[in-house]
Amino acid sequence: MSIYGNYINGEWVTKSHQSTFASVSPSDTGDQVGEFSIADEQQVKEAIAAARAAQPSWASTPIQARSEILLKIGLELGERKAEIGKLVSREGGKTLADGVAEVVRASQVFHFFAGETLRCGGEAIPSTRPGIGVLTSREPVGVVGLITPWNFPIAIASWKIAPALAFGNSVVLKPSEETPAIAAELFRVMARAGVPAGVANLVNGPGHITGSALAQGIDALSFTGSVPTGRKLALAASEQMIRIQLELGGKNPLVILDDADLPAAVECALNGAFFSAGQRCTASSRLIVTERVHDQFVDALRTRMRSLNIGHALDKDTHIGPIINQRQLDMIQRYIGVGKSEGAELVEGGQLLERRNPGFYMQPALFISTRNDMRINQEEVFGPFASVIRVKDYDEALSTANDTEFGLSAGICTTSLKYANHFRMHIQSGLAMVNLPTAGLDYHVPLGGVKSSGYGPSEQGKYAADFYTHLKTAYIAN
Ligand code: NAD
Repeated sequence: MSIYGNYINGEWVTKSHQSTFASVSPSDTGDQVGEFSIADEQQVKEAIAAARAAQPSWASTPIQARSEILLKIGLELGERKAEIGKLVSREGGKTLADGVAEVVRASQVFHFFAGETLRCGGEAIPSTRPGIGVLTSREPVGVVGLITPWNFPIAIASWKIAPALAFGNSVVLKPSEETPAIAAELFRVMARAGVPAGVANLVNGPGHITGSALAQGIDALSFTGSVPTGRKLALAASEQMIRIQLELGGKNPLVILDDADLPAAVECALNGAFFSAGQRCTASSRLIVTERVHDQFVDALRTRMRSLNIGHALDKDTHIGPIINQRQLDMIQRYIGVGKSEGAELVEGGQLLERRNPGFYMQPALFISTRNDMRINQEEVFGPFASVIRVKDYDEALSTANDTEFGLSAGICTTSLKYANHFRMHIQSGLAMVNLPTAGLDYHVPLGGVKSSGYGPSEQGKYAADFYTHLKTAYIAN
């Protein structure tokens, strides 16, 4: 099998002394997707230097040309969604339908920012002093480091790369070591679309080597991943006084009230908690249910859980694919032990599964009789794992939902406009969903968490400009 190099200054570079790592399909550990060179500190510096050299001329490239390049990237991703979606599913373990949908989303993100390239302007503001005009303009930040997780390997990379390039920055991406082949494919598409050498660079390797090297010597850092890694990177950024944007984990509540449309609420819970094997930052891991509908809800959810097919991500009838790797599977299994030892009752699933290929399969797990202060309700598990918390009424549901260090997404299922509106206003989270799963987002509106779930400006939509540009204010006397 050939070794994939790192993409630096428009070339795929492999050095003979470099160590490598393998990317393996979580659906079938016998299926090796590729072998990749690890970029050490020196090579990361080379990538940053290439980005720094290329950035000024990219920033002065006419916006029409920059916009057309982004459009071309979006077009190729859209045209090849089936083929690239299959790679996303094979390497990342999400179902084929989800893999294809993710590539479509990446394509839409590039289309959206092709438009934003043209729309990114400033303002003319009257001065308080006579004879003076004030103009604001948005200027690129410079070289932006991007560090991404494996669970949305092409969408997250795209929603960082597209605005960075739209507004005249250059980038160095370090994708997750679980999904390097997808990142390589995206970079081939970008090169074909005409992104100039050095404007977008790709370095692969583990977080503690390649990732931590990328946190040095750049002008801004956008990171999506876990809270502990985000915290380390925030410290590194503050020491250098560079701007940072962190999109982190969640412990997302879904509130189900007495007056909810119960079958619809069960579908919201099933989708939000277990689809994509619960490996979504927006997954509903705490199902907060009022007591009058509690038993009925739990019975209906258990029935639906039994109808789910867990299997190879590429099989047509699979609803839920594998867990990403052995380490993560072991971690989820440990939390099943934690839940039992805390006195919660495992009423559905949780067991390991064997399938025709060796992979990381488990039956989605549901706990009941849980309290919000249990570890299983306070710590992010990041798997097909949810707990039900029984509450008296809406007020207790809201205070339980807010009683967490996280604040990414939160949902409520209710037919009451009063409660829906109150929840939207008082839930402490970046995303509030009414009669919808906590997961499942549009590509053109902002995404950002509060509390420990996020730090810095939101991503996506027109607000992406707040991170990827500096505002300059000019005073001009006439
Ligand atoms: P992770 O923090 O382990 O890794 C994320 C990335 O950081 C990877 O590329 C990894 O190699 C790198 N990294 C690890 N240690 C590093 C270090 N010391 N310095 C620099 N880089 C380092 O997270 P993960 O397991 O890949 O992803 C799952 C997490 O991501 C979950 O917590 C999930 O909630 C979160 N997530 C959040 C969002 C969001 O938008 N808020 C979206 C998706 C995932």
